Amino acid sequence: MHITSYVLDDAIDARKNRTRYFQAGLDYRIKNSIPGKINGNKWNFYWNINIYVDMNSKCNANCAFCINRVNFSRKDVPDDIYVNNFYQSIKEVRFLDPSIQIVGGEPTLLPDRLCALKDCISKFNLRKPILGTNGFGLCNDNLIQRIAPAFQHINISRHHYGDEMRNRVMGFKNPLNNDKLSLLVKNKDFGHKIRLNCCLLSGYIDDFGKVVNYLNWAIETGCRNVCFSTLSVLPEDYIYDPGLVNYSNLQMVDLNSLMNEVTSDSHFSFVKFHSGSHCMYEVWNYTGEQGDCMAVFSTSNNHYAQLLDQTEGMIEQMVFHTDGVLTGSWNRNCKII
Ligand code: SF4
Repeated sequence: MHITSYVLDDAIDARKNRTRYFQAGLDYRIKNSIPGKINGNKWNFYWNINIYVDMNSKCNANCAFCINRVNFSRKDVPDDIYVNNFYQSIKEVRFLDPSIQIVGGEPTLLPDRLCALKDCISKFNLRKPILGTNGFGLCNDNLIQRIAPAFQHINISRHHYGDEMRNRVMGFKNPLNNDKLSLLVKNKDFGHKIRLNCCLLSGYIDDFGKVVNYLNWAIETGCRNVCFSTLSVLPEDYIYDPGLVNYSNLQMVDLNSLMNEVTSDSHFSFVKFHSGSHCMYEVWNYTGEQGDCMAVFSTSNNHYAQLLDQTEGMIEQMVFHTDGVLTGSWNRNCKII
């Protein structure tokens, strides 16, 4: 079994045996960890570790599937405490050469904090910096010009190609409408960094035809990189609000049927497949009438994130939480570093 493969047969096998592949991804991480000591405590860190930065508990959107509906407090602290703790944490874990991804809540609601983090990322030359945003603050020319040079990718959540449908599913009127998005994507300095993230959701982008419509729209807009993600399988006895677990179960799209159609459609060509510990994705190239677009299809099962939390001494990913505390888990109260 290969957890990364450039052979389509392996991807097809993984679709039928997701549990086995997630377990293999998890085992790989445990076997490929390296010992390290922080604040006097010994841990085993995954060699290719990432830090997620939960920058802000607040978001101006209101997605029913928001993964931030958790059973621990996501309280915020003032900018000076947050940024100072962030610098200290980065100094402590710099030896691991982590990649970094800023998420939230909505990061662009706190532009001063975001710029301070951006300065830290540049100062320490952190690997593969990515910003995840709903796009709200990117309408601010001054902000995007300041932050874009520091990031390798800017991932914009865009759960439908229609402005109205997207505003409905995200529960707010996003000022970054399709016309403004198109201007951003065509910007010669940073447009190529923009990727679109689309949640596959029953009633919205939920079948092959809509995926193709989305890709054609993205190409027309000027964006050549789209990730479609299913809702996660969420354990009931972990950190998630029961309403969220229920919503995920009810609204989840059948990715296997979709992938069967992708596989048999000549507009798509297979690039690669990869299985992590709790996230698995296939990369395809789509060729439409107006051009090409990279299409990533991703699915996740957070039972395996829970299993990692339960693996003593092992840290596969780090999360810098809204209260300025670094842990080895999305659970704020687990594996405080
Ligand atoms: S945009 Fe992201 S952080 Fe905001 S509500 Fe939606 S899923 Fe949650």
